[in-house]
Order: sequence, then structure tokens, then C-alpha cells
Amino acid sequence: MKLLFTLDYELFLGSRTGSVANCLITPMEQLQAAIESAGGKFTIFVDATYLFRARQLSIGYPQLARDVEQISSHLKQLVASGHDVQLHIHPHWAFSTYNDGMWLLDHKHYKLCDLDAETALQVTTQAKELLDTTIGRKTIAFRAGGFAAQPTAMLKELFLKNDIVADCSVCPGLSYSSPQQEFDYTKAPAKDCYRFDDDICTEDAGGRFTEFPITMHRVSPVFHWKLAANRLLKLQEHRTFGDGAAVKTTGESIVARLTSWQNCQATIDGYKISFLPQAWQATRHRGNELLTILGHPKLATPYSIDRLAKFVQQATAAGDTFTTISQMLAAQ
Ligand SMILES: [Zn+2]
Repeated sequence: MKLLFTLDYELFLGSRTGSVANCLITPMEQLQAAIESAGGKFTIFVDATYLFRARQLSIGYPQLARDVEQISSHLKQLVASGHDVQLHIHPHWAFSTYNDGMWLLDHKHYKLCDLDAETALQVTTQAKELLDTTIGRKTIAFRAGGFAAQPTAMLKELFLKNDIVADCSVCPGLSYSSPQQEFDYTKAPAKDCYRFDDDICTEDAGGRFTEFPITMHRVSPVFHWKLAANRLLKLQEHRTFGDGAAVKTTGESIVARLTSWQNCQATIDGYKISFLPQAWQATRHRGNELLTILGHPKLATPYSIDRLAKFVQQATAAGDTFTTISQMLAAQ
């Protein structure tokens, strides 16, 4: 089986965004140390709308100029180390402002589907052009902010005009609705990858785009009680490297997680990495050839880094190898 580790390289999107050093640079070093010795590479979806907006405002704010400089050289290093940098879009940054050392986020434009088609295209295109120039190569794969990659008609337009050929936003079996996220992937195929065109949830053998869905795993309410307990205890090993505040989960969703089995993404984030070995086993038993894993540097913890190194040892000892989205597309 192949392991596809995908990361969302981004600050926090709640009341505090956190710092570049603690949300991005330091945890990436830890994540790299956990997988690189085994030959692993990450596919890193960079929040390019943030980068574009920070650069746009950097003339008036020296801190933003430093942030952009630090991120640009970090991304160049990651590419030089063989990691695969691709495009992530959180459109609200394009409408957000900066004052007194803090980002003031626009909560009305969190999802691509909140934007009209023309604005969505402009926001995506200018962010992609900056990211491509920064890393010195063309990005060809996309992940939507908050996984909100619908409606497909809008997405298709963005992809065709920006030479995007692959997406990695779909979480098969999952639907969610909040001010920040809106998607319905309940009918999406739970396959390693599939072609699509008019509908991101429908396989179309002649489709122009390839979907790499995130691998999903059934998680019991007991797990979510343990997760809640860990958050309350605030143990050092479970403290995130990231120093911002996440967007709030809906009350309805919290109740559902604590009372019933849930579809969750296979992930390396924080305490949730504890069910990754089971997700790996289940994926092998189903006969899949690809495990697509989600992660966020900002949510890494001392515990998750330790477990990641152990997981990589376990999987490679069983014969698994690493891949990136660019490698998967090149092999098609
Ligand atoms: Zn994101």
C-alpha cells in the first residue's frame, strides 16, 4: 500500500491566527524529522490566499513582510527537500485586514461557495500565481478550505482556467454545515482515486479531473470522550505547537460525536493520530492500495510526532511505501 501524507499549511482561522513560527515552521521541522528518515515526503497544500493577502498588505506592516519572507524561503526549502507543494484556498483572507499586530478575519467569505464565480476565480488565480512563482513550479492539485469544494460547476471553472488537474478535498460519507464549512460527500465513492467532471461525488471514467479522497475511518463515541478529556487536562504532550485558536465546531456536531459512531478522516493531527493504526489496518483489509492521510502542522503535538514516527516504522516494515500527489499523477 502507498501512504499519501497531505498537510494543510495554514495559520488558525478562529479568533487568533497564531504565529508563522509556531503554526508552520517549528511543527514542519518536527513532522519532517518523523518521516524523512524513512524516506517519506509530504504533499503540502499551502494556504495561498493568506500568502497573497499578507504580501498585499506587507507594504504597511513590517511584520507581514517578515512573515511572507519566512514562508517563501521555507516553501523553497521544502520543495528542494522533495516535498510536493500544492494549492489550498481559504478565500476569506482576501477580505480580511490586519491591524495592531492582529489579523481581523472576514467571517462572511469563509467558503468558495460564498463567493460569486468571478470573485472566486480572481481570488484563486492570483493566489495560485503567487504560490507558483514562489516555489518556481506549477501547482496542479487543489484542496478547498474547510473541504468545501462544491458546487462542482464553480470548481471546474477554477480548475480549467488554472491548469488544476486533481483535487484532494472529498471526505467520502461525510457531510457538514457551519458558517465556515459546507459540503455533502455522502454519495462520494470511497476509492483510492477516481475521475470526475460534472460532479465531484460521481465517478466519470472520461472526466478531466482526478479526485484523491481522504481516507475515512469509523470512530466510536468513546474516542471522542477521550479526546475531550485530553483537551480539558491540557497535558504538555497534547499541547499543539500552533498558538492560535481554531474555528468553533457546531454544537450539533459535538453532540453527534459524543453519542454515535462517526466517519472521521485518517489523520496525524494531535490525539486523533491514535486511531491511525486502526484506519491503516482497515484500509489494508479492504484491499485499497492508497491511504490518504490528512494533517495540519499547527495541530501537531509532542504526542502526535512521537506516534507518527512509530506509525511510519510500522507501515514501512509491513512493506508500505510513500507517495505524493505529483507522483500519483505522473504514474497515471
Ligand atoms: Zn485549510
